[in-house]
Amino acid sequence: MSDETSANWQRLRVVLVESQLAANIGSAARAMKTMGLTRMVLVAPLQFPHANAQALAAGAADVLDQALVVDTLLAGIADCHYVLGCSARARCVGLPTLSPREAARKLLEQAALGEVAVVFGSERVGLSNADLCRCDAAVQIPSDPAFSSLNLAQAVQILAYELRQHALDQAMATAPGPAAAAGNERAASKSEMEGFFSHLETTLAAIDFLKGRSPRVIMQRLRRLFLRATPSQREVLILRGILSEAARQAKPLAAPSSPSDKR
Ligand code: SAH
Repeated sequence: MSDETSANWQRLRVVLVESQLAANIGSAARAMKTMGLTRMVLVAPLQFPHANAQALAAGAADVLDQALVVDTLLAGIADCHYVLGCSARARCVGLPTLSPREAARKLLEQAALGEVAVVFGSERVGLSNADLCRCDAAVQIPSDPAFSSLNLAQAVQILAYELRQHALDQAMATAPGPAAAAGNERAASKSEMEGFFSHLETTLAAIDFLKGRSPRVIMQRLRRLFLRATPSQREVLILRGILSEAARQAKPLAAPSSPSDKR
């Protein structure tokens, strides 16, 4: 992740409201940690701290140890400027509903501006209308409407996964391309690539690689291969050096048939 992306990542928190089972809190901590999330806020948990939370957290006990426990949702999100509430059903009239993917994009976008949170309700009743109305939008995991409610920790896992996926996509988008990765070299231009391709085609004929096969089909495949690699200008020069050498080596074989080449 770039410094900027990781700074945004640190501004993300997961808030669990009135969770009933310590085991779910532990599983949620594990779900978060597998995706690189560490900031958990527990609003009035029924069982916490608890051995079951520790047991289900497995290697994520540090997330539990650092969890902030507060009395009300408002206390848990007071310093956030953007909050999303996860609900199997959109209950609060007028609240926009996002998919987990859209939610991840919005949360990371907003994290560039300050603290953000994603909130989950209790196992028995979910988020109340009052809690949802404190959120900027609802998040609905597109489950089967006939059986729409996921286990709390599994819902956390899905949101955590989408957040990580989005952060990775962002990091990929800003990462240097393959040519730049080869020592910050300039990628070969279209005209340099065309020069290379015509050199390649002539050389294939000169070294008698084609043997009656269609140069068009072979060149199409080779073009695809080399364009996919996005070579740098210097790499193309090396390739052309190899072609020149191959043609030079092949020449003595062709020499006897060419009277002008007689030595
Ligand atoms: N019985 C509750 C569901 C509780 S599941 C109800 O009917 O609302 C515990 C929490 O997991 C929910 O409050 C919600 O935050 C999250 N969750 C479960 N299924 C979800 C879904 N399909 N979409 C979004 N969040 C979901």
